[in-house]
Amino acid sequence: MFLKVGVYLDPQLARYGFGPIHPFNNDRFDAFAKAFRHHHLDQKVHLLTGRMASEEEIKRFHTLAYIQWIKRKSKEGRGFLDYGDTPVVPGIYEASAYVVGTVLEAVDQIMQGTLKRAFIPIAGLHHAKPEGTSGFCVFNDCAIAIHSLRKKYGVKKIAYVDIDVHHGDGVFYAFEEDPNLIFADIHEMDIFPGTGDSYEEGLGKGKGKKRNFPLPAGAGDEDFFEVWPQIEDLIKREDPDFIIFQCGADSLAGDPLASLYYSDRPHGHAAAQLCKLADTYSQGRLLALGGGGYNLENIGRAWTAVVKSLIEAHM
Ligand SMILES: [Zn+2]
Repeated sequence: MFLKVGVYLDPQLARYGFGPIHPFNNDRFDAFAKAFRHHHLDQKVHLLTGRMASEEEIKRFHTLAYIQWIKRKSKEGRGFLDYGDTPVVPGIYEASAYVVGTVLEAVDQIMQGTLKRAFIPIAGLHHAKPEGTSGFCVFNDCAIAIHSLRKKYGVKKIAYVDIDVHHGDGVFYAFEEDPNLIFADIHEMDIFPGTGDSYEEGLGKGKGKKRNFPLPAGAGDEDFFEVWPQIEDLIKREDPDFIIFQCGADSLAGDPLASLYYSDRPHGHAAAQLCKLADTYSQGRLLALGGGGYNLENIGRAWTAVVKSLIEAHM
């Protein structure tokens, strides 16, 4: 029964990173893998490997000109992909396409019923725009997954829940007017990317289908638990067919880039509750994506808390 939970513990994912002195370094994957094995979770889930996405698949969200530019920069291997946060590393195109392909592979497994829930550690690159890199995110696997669910499987209503410390702007603005993309995001206010005010609830037909919950620096578990029920209410009201969960570990206390003070409880709780909601509304379908997190110990704590909840929800 537990084999319906899949974890993409694929070392190829570790290629997505920007070198040893960058916050988004290539050790993040190992930090998770170590904690995951330490808790013997590898014996309780289906261990899977991903694949490269094709250019055609990446084009579901990104412009061809942008994809070709990334390919070129990836070969050149120097400079920056944005205004200075995201350096070029050789092979970044292939590494980014692998993240996307792995997410699409998980979508396939879930939609074909092989898996009920899946976790992908190095994914959830929620800042990337159709025509640009942003905040360490080259290709927006979250948005590509949403388009694929619709195009390939005809899934209409999708909920995207994001508890990364940063606002998921790349997803929010791409679907701002979309009434069938239910969006809920708890993040720290006044840090990168500076968006996600509470008055931003979607536009046009999308109005009221999105919720943003900015928390002040220093907010912790109590603040999270005060806000969280509103996300459950939104999902209950909207009855989505699929749930995507971006569970960035940078909202835990001690992250070098942010100032929220969560323990690992919010991540474990959110995952457990989303599993229950998925069982009630979405035929169990839940895709969890690791997201940010720049304190290696916190990556291990937050993401194993998520995977434990995925497993326990299934027993
Ligand atoms: Zn983040």
